[in-house]
Amino acid sequence: MNMEVSRRGFLRAAGVGVAGTALGAFGFSAAEAAEVAHVRAYKLAMTTETRNTCPYCSVACGVILYSKGDLRKGQTAEITHIEGDADHPTNRGTLCPKGAALKDFVHAKTRLNYPMVRKPGSDKFERVSWDEALDRVVRLMKDDRDANFIAKNKDGVAVNRWTSVGFLAASATTNETAYATYKVARSVGLLAFDNQARV
Ligand code: SF4
Repeated sequence: MNMEVSRRGFLRAAGVGVAGTALGAFGFSAAEAAEVAHVRAYKLAMTTETRNTCPYCSVACGVILYSKGDLRKGQTAEITHIEGDADHPTNRGTLCPKGAALKDFVHAKTRLNYPMVRKPGSDKFERVSWDEALDRVVRLMKDDRDANFIAKNKDGVAVNRWTSVGFLAASATTNETAYATYKVARSVGLLAFDNQARV
């Protein structure tokens, strides 16, 4: 809103403000109540801070998750606010619009929170435990590699390729995790290896 305020009008308004403040200072409860009423409660009071990494892209900005609920007392933690981590060397507290909207992503009803599998012939996905999911992934990878691994090409040159499976990793991670992931994928002969950032 663009308001034109004359010098005289500005001084009059400022004088009213000063008078109100002075009344509050002298213990006038109505003035104090009015002052308190327009101050919002501090939303980060009594929250737990947890550091994490934005999951969207390979910039991997640091974020701080603020949650209510004490896990040590068996309570469920509910994330109430997310902001950039000012101490993180990558983003120094800043976030792009996607990162700034992370709270909605965390609370989205469509967000996948656990592994699911659609069994052969089934028309629906079923929830499975992490142990079941990891055992199944490893079993299927081993069987496929045993069946399709190419140790040498037609000229007898060692190539050690496994071309029948692709591996999709996460880009929003640390250099160390990315290095270890890359070593695992390449050491078993995988050629089709990518992540959501295509880097
Ligand atoms: S905040 Fe934006 S730039 Fe940073 S990791 Fe998330 S999506 Fe990428």
